[in-house]
Amino acid sequence: AKSAGGNRFELADPEADARAITRHGLTTALPTALERGEFFIEYQPLVHLGDGSVRGAEALVRWLHPQHGVLGPDRFIPLAEHTGLIVPLGRWVLEQSVRQAREWRELHGGVEAGPLRINVNLSPCQLTHPGLVQDTVDILERTGVAPDALCLEVTESALIGADDDLLKPLRRLAEMGVDIALDDFGTGYSNLANLRRLPVSILKLDRSFTQSMQQFPADPVDLKIVEGIVSLAHSLDLGVTVEGVETGAQAEQLRILGCDTAQGWYYARPGPPERLHELALVDATG
Ligand code: C2E
Ligand code: CA
Ligand code: CA
Ligand code: CA
Repeated sequence: AKSAGGNRFELADPEADARAITRHGLTTALPTALERGEFFIEYQPLVHLGDGSVRGAEALVRWLHPQHGVLGPDRFIPLAEHTGLIVPLGRWVLEQSVRQAREWRELHGGVEAGPLRINVNLSPCQLTHPGLVQDTVDILERTGVAPDALCLEVTESALIGADDDLLKPLRRLAEMGVDIALDDFGTGYSNLANLRRLPVSILKLDRSFTQSMQQFPADPVDLKIVEGIVSLAHSLDLGVTVEGVETGAQAEQLRILGCDTAQGWYYARPGPPERLHELALVDATG
């Protein structure tokens, strides 16, 4: 299947050919990969910037391909979206992640900050799929996890110009207590006033902002922008999470700017669920 956008794969470029073959190969292998259990999930901690405690994790899917080894989501999520496999795959990720959250809760129920929360990415195709709300309700009921322990991440670009039909399922979920986060915030064409219309409770500031905090002193204009976003978000009662934090200096700068939660290699790379559990436990016991 060729994407509507172009005939790039027809270029007389051996590398492009190789990519096209791999793409084709990967695309046809996707459905069996799900049946054979070749997907797995890594978890990356979400850390409270104020006190450094682990508050939850983002679920990030990987594919252990029998020939190519571990493939990142950028390699296969677009293909899964194209073929529609993203719907069952996304459902699988959601169920696995929520089950994992319940396991963490059982392992250390008494963490002061409350149960670890789980963030799961939603593709735009899942948003338009009619089963989204019911699937989510079913998974939460089956696992006994409270809706407010779940956060669904939707990219800003998926919601740009969204009409009421698209927002309805998200509203339903938000009313149940599920958090909706606006992912990669600041990369799209955001109409800030539009935010009020969206059923989101968290802004996830894109990594590009974090990167601009790399230099010291950071670009004063970037500082002002982040400061402005944070104050707007807080005035709308939205939490602010920053992604891609790689250094302590970035973390400190973003904390001073008022961001609430951070995620990035500085704290931990995405890893197996046991790792998250260890980090949270160390954190809880000092
Ligand atoms: P995202 O939602 O923006 O996820 C954050 C990405 O940044 C992850 O890449 C993560 O590994 C990476 N990252 C985390 N900390 C750092 C850091 O400090 N520095 C740098 N340079 N990178 C960092 P990953 O795992 O390759 O995922 C890429 C994208 O794939 C995700 O971007 C998300 O949009 C998508 N994705 C992942 N899992 C799923 C899924 O289950 N469903 C859907 N629909 N999309 C998914
Ligand atoms: Ca995300
Ligand atoms: Ca993101
Ligand atoms: Ca991103």
